[in-house]
Amino acid sequence: MSQWYLMKRYARVMELRTCSTCFTDKPLAEFQAGRKQCTTCRNATRTRLRAANPKPATPGSHIDERLRRTAKTLGITPERFAIERMKPCAACAKEATQETPNTGVADPTTGQFAGTVCLSCAKGFAFLGKDPERLANLLALFEH
Ligand SMILES: [Zn+2]
Ligand SMILES: [Zn+2]
Repeated sequence: MSQWYLMKRYARVMELRTCSTCFTDKPLAEFQAGRKQCTTCRNATRTRLRAANPKPATPGSHIDERLRRTAKTLGITPERFAIERMKPCAACAKEATQETPNTGVADPTTGQFAGTVCLSCAKGFAFLGKDPERLANLLALFEH
């Protein structure tokens, strides 16, 4: 490597640029190519902008996506599922609300959509292993 090249390289390493935000003279290494802001300021600006502009909720965002996926699992359209989950619980007739919509239940044998039940009933069904035979045995206890 020639002396000249080394000198040139050294000069480049030592070259300073004034950051447009913090007005500090910093080595070029502190700047990304073509940026007038040092990396520290750039990261700070990005963090601030991201906090001030959270991603707007769009159709297909979190809740919608989950509803769509559940509907697909149950083999019905998201539109129908949205209506079904607001119906009274199929087991205890409890009214569904926007805050506590019903849970979709699939027929354990066919896997097809059977109806919607409230959270308590859905949990109860799950606790019983979603096993119709087990449910029938339990009911048989009360048949005299
Ligand atoms: Zn800066
Ligand atoms: Zn219920």
